[in-house]
Amino acid sequence: TPTILWFRRDLRLSDHPALMAALARGGPVIPVFLNDEGVEMLRTAPAWRLGLGVAHLGARLEDRGSRLILRSGPAARTLLELVEETGAGAVYWMRAYDPTSVARDTEAKSALRARDVEAKSFPGHLMFEPWSVETKTGGFYKVYTPFWRAVKNREVAEPCATPSDLAPPDAWPESETLGDWALGAGMDRGAEVVRPWVRLGEEAAQARLGAFMAEKVETYPKTRDLPGVDGTSCLSENLSLGEITPRQCWHAGMRALHEGKDGAESFLQELVWREFAYHLMWHTPRLLSDNWKSDWDAFPWNEDERRREVIAWKRARTGVPFVDAALREMYVTGRMHNRGRMIVASYLCKHLLCHWRIGMEWFEDCLIDWDPASNAMGWQWSAGSGPDATPYFRVFNPDTQLDRFDKDRTYVRTWIAEGQADPPDTARAYFDAIPRRWAIASDDDYPEPIVDASEGRKRALDAYENRDF
Ligand code: FAD
Repeated sequence: TPTILWFRRDLRLSDHPALMAALARGGPVIPVFLNDEGVEMLRTAPAWRLGLGVAHLGARLEDRGSRLILRSGPAARTLLELVEETGAGAVYWMRAYDPTSVARDTEAKSALRARDVEAKSFPGHLMFEPWSVETKTGGFYKVYTPFWRAVKNREVAEPCATPSDLAPPDAWPESETLGDWALGAGMDRGAEVVRPWVRLGEEAAQARLGAFMAEKVETYPKTRDLPGVDGTSCLSENLSLGEITPRQCWHAGMRALHEGKDGAESFLQELVWREFAYHLMWHTPRLLSDNWKSDWDAFPWNEDERRREVIAWKRARTGVPFVDAALREMYVTGRMHNRGRMIVASYLCKHLLCHWRIGMEWFEDCLIDWDPASNAMGWQWSAGSGPDATPYFRVFNPDTQLDRFDKDRTYVRTWIAEGQADPPDTARAYFDAIPRRWAIASDDDYPEPIVDASEGRKRALDAYENRDF
């Protein structure tokens, strides 16, 4: 009987254990992508980027004589309908770890098994299953460094091969078209601006990994913190949609290490930060929605999104160059340098005393590398409410940060046009990317700081010192 291969955030053909298992089972393979609960939870830019990824995977499958069948509806019901239509005896997929997907997959599994259909999920989105890493007392890790020590010498299996034969069925079930789904509808003018920055699909991801290992990994420990330097792998976009696997990256890093490129160790550590985020989300799903440290519930977070200061932050017009440059980078490229993410998050949560959830959700609207676990962990880390977080009283000063990490102002000049006689295209592009309703024009003056840096810092520290916990 045929096997339905249910693609989700695993948009690739290489190193795909569920695909290999479907082929090993024998019989035809029917690749399927569902517009289901997992897609409904996606917001603007992530939904748009997913649409591009799905279209790309569909084309790759067609190149190999296969297809990607598209269907809308709740997963369990839609898969049962497909089983009925195709006579499939098995449904295979790659495991997901966020609570929405886990609930969906558990329901689908029981519905399929109740009809005697083999339903099986495979690991691969992570290197280390979250429940497989335990402290000596059998608990989960709440601090990164011991987590890193626990996994760094573990054997990571070699990536599996890319199949050449995709075993198509004699007849294909009907498919919807991606155009019907309008996944990019929310992107407004941004789609055209961000599109050239997208590195789509597994071929682009592999090329990116190869170039990074050849040209950048050696200097990575020094340059990874400099937002004006193109010194990081930029693989988060592809990792987030499974266009590349963490173990492909891990083995490339290991090879570089063995070739004497010591900088690769630092890259491996960053990949493990991603694993750590998933470890935390799996063991404590409240990471996504609530203060991880519940005593922070008593903190006087401001949750009003209509505040003038929040609006200025979202529009990248705080008058603080590092903050505005980073947010503008996000509108133009769909991504933001890690140093920028830390600065804008600290500024929103501390200088502006805003709830981290407001920032987290904004990133979820705007990032093409949006990842539920890394985003939530990053925001709670920045706010001080998360596990292994930066202490609240350590308030980044965005001006001194600029002197440390963007000494010659390359980053600021790349993204902020105001004040430059002949700004680069990158800086101009911000005005084309943002929605017209924001009514921001390229000849507007650059704003004065909405909060004085030292006053903002004092406000944050006062709130912290007078807190109720
Ligand atoms: P590289 O420096 O090349 O690192 C390689 C890989 O390691 C990355 O692709 C990523 O998968 C992983 N990694 C690196 N740093 C981290 C980190 N701090 N936490 C978890 N994984 C990490 N990352 C996302 O992928 N999606 C998000 O939505 C996201 N939101 C964030 C929000 C905030 C407030 C903060 C502070 C960080 C966030 N990060 C997020 C983590 C980090 O900023 C990005 O992973 C990184 O900037 C991606 O660039 P890169 O691929 O060039 O990373």
